[in-house]
Amino acid sequence: MEYQYWNKHRETMPREELKRLQVERLTWTVANALKTPFYAERLKKIPVDSIQSLDDLRRLPFTTKHDLREGFPYGFLSIPQDNVVRLHASSGTTGTPTTVYFSREDLGRWSQLVARCIFGTGCTKSDVFQNMISYGLFTGGLGFHAGAEEVGMLVIPSGAGNTTRQFRLMQDFGTTVVHATPSFLLHVESKMQEEAIARDSIRLRKAFAGAEPYSEDTRQRIQDLLHIDVYNSYGLSEMNGPGVAFECQAKQGLHLWEDAYIGEIINPDTLEPVPDGEIGELVLTCLCREANPLLRYRTRDLTAFYCEPCVCGRTHRRLHRIKGRTDDMLIINGVNLFPSQIEEVVMAMPEVANNYSIAIEKEGALDRLTVHIEVHAHIFRDDTRPLNALREKIRKTLQALITINPRVELHESGSLAVSEGKAKRVYDNRPKDV
Ligand code: AMP
Ligand code: ZN
Repeated sequence: MEYQYWNKHRETMPREELKRLQVERLTWTVANALKTPFYAERLKKIPVDSIQSLDDLRRLPFTTKHDLREGFPYGFLSIPQDNVVRLHASSGTTGTPTTVYFSREDLGRWSQLVARCIFGTGCTKSDVFQNMISYGLFTGGLGFHAGAEEVGMLVIPSGAGNTTRQFRLMQDFGTTVVHATPSFLLHVESKMQEEAIARDSIRLRKAFAGAEPYSEDTRQRIQDLLHIDVYNSYGLSEMNGPGVAFECQAKQGLHLWEDAYIGEIINPDTLEPVPDGEIGELVLTCLCREANPLLRYRTRDLTAFYCEPCVCGRTHRRLHRIKGRTDDMLIINGVNLFPSQIEEVVMAMPEVANNYSIAIEKEGALDRLTVHIEVHAHIFRDDTRPLNALREKIRKTLQALITINPRVELHESGSLAVSEGKAKRVYDNRPKDV
């Protein structure tokens, strides 16, 4: 395969050279950080001049979401507010949102990174790009928008939701590429069936799917149902937004752009680095943002590095698909469970339609897990045997994998709630103080 690079020199530079660039940018970032009220205090006792190598990074303390909240609103700003041209906020999936700030140069560097991701999937300026994700404080809207314009694509800022209008735009302007959450892409497919939109009335061939975890089976399902090529996109507002790590055409993990970020993977309990290739919490240091430097930020996202080089020739290391967040983990009757484990079972079943959710209740002293799953309409018939058999099959498969005996409830396709932004899959209804 002929791979396409946005910035060939940068993307394929020898690792030794890449590491030298990281050290150079780390020193610049630490100097910037010292100009922020938060780090001026936090780094007071650390001889920051001695941070001269990647190993020295480990002498710096971690920064957490809690720190960002403590520093709200301007504790992490390293330039005068006059020079800040934009702010974004995280979606607040885990509590109060946190804010990030950009100078004009920061925005330029960010859009270069997003352009690199987009171009690396084989897109060109001839593509028509429909950005089906929320604009506004969420970084996915304006972040992708700017990157796609940088590539020179025709950008349709459609925003999230309103599937009927999304189809109309696709048909009118010949959209070839979309960006959305994977759950919204599944919803789009269900709606296409419902509204009887003919596949050949749209020219779609690619999608960037991110902002929430999803399994390889979900990717496969979206690809097969919509007949498109789906690329995993990872980012977080604390590190600009999209453009942190992205799949290339080899689709074997997401390249973390190491000229712009230093990635470490730690054990979230001991805070020590995990051995190469093992799963742990991703910690990121942003090397390309002047207004809002963040050092060793604990993302809470669980992943691992692939150790081998990628066939595409890029030298930047790849991350595994994100497994979930440390704070996503559910404890059910003492057993640890990630929602992604349920998704892996459910989305691999052909009888299952495009949506599911998980509810947990207290029943006496015990926790009760119920998995609600949409299934295709033809399974709902007067004869309830196929439905019962399917329910039992799903229950058994889940139980074998997660060691918890769940209740399984099957619903008709289109009946479970769909959110426009990140999917809400888990409804934990247990009393909070227990
Ligand atoms: P936000 O700052 O609101 O954009 O949220 C960022 C968070 O969304 C990350 O820390 C991840 O937990 C999640 N996220 C973003 N992209 C992905 C992805 N491709 N796979 C899994 N989780 C993702
Ligand atoms: Zn690659």
